[in-house]
Amino acid sequence: MLSGPSGVGKTTVVRELRRRHRHVWVSVSVTTRHPRPGERDGIDYWFVSPQRFSEMASRGELLEWAEFAGNSYGTPLAPVLEHLAAGVPVLLEIEIEGARQVRARMPDALLVFLRPPSWDELVRRLTGRGTESPEVVAARLDRARVELAAEAEFDVALENSAVGSVCDRLLALMGSSHSSDRKAT
Ligand code: 5GP
Repeated sequence: MLSGPSGVGKTTVVRELRRRHRHVWVSVSVTTRHPRPGERDGIDYWFVSPQRFSEMASRGELLEWAEFAGNSYGTPLAPVLEHLAAGVPVLLEIEIEGARQVRARMPDALLVFLRPPSWDELVRRLTGRGTESPEVVAARLDRARVELAAEAEFDVALENSAVGSVCDRLLALMGSSHSSDRKAT
């Protein structure tokens, strides 16, 4: 499970990992947020209405879910269970409240924290993205402070200085947790 503040580059790392290592399955979350330019339904997210989201949550169809900067985000449970049952390495890219819920429900999950090289760099990346209003950027920066303070809860922390090396380390971590799963069965 990969977590870390908004703007740290989780999506870029995940995209690169998926490009290089097609055997890793990356969960597609549901969200009530509107698509950013270029985002596609069913690939980047499942974009759903708030009503549909609450239906899914109340029916227990989500492994975890959280509110983030005014929208809801959640991980559909069934596809995660299907891939795990098939022995496929599963990667979730989620914020910290969700990571805590997964930890409680799946204690064997590995929690990886992605940290920015510096606070200034995070501010630069979040503002430079240009896809959010100043209010949303401010809300995300507030939340980033809280998320950075939670680093110690994670099993591993990686600094996102170069995408390629973060991918390699993430894959090595997934490989080791995967092979220990195999040994256990
Ligand atoms: P964004 O709107 O920038 O795509 O995502 C905002 C935050 O929500 C990011 O920190 C992202 O990791 C997190 N997020 C994306 N999908 C999920 C999910 O399914 N569950 C939770 N808890 N957080 C998610």
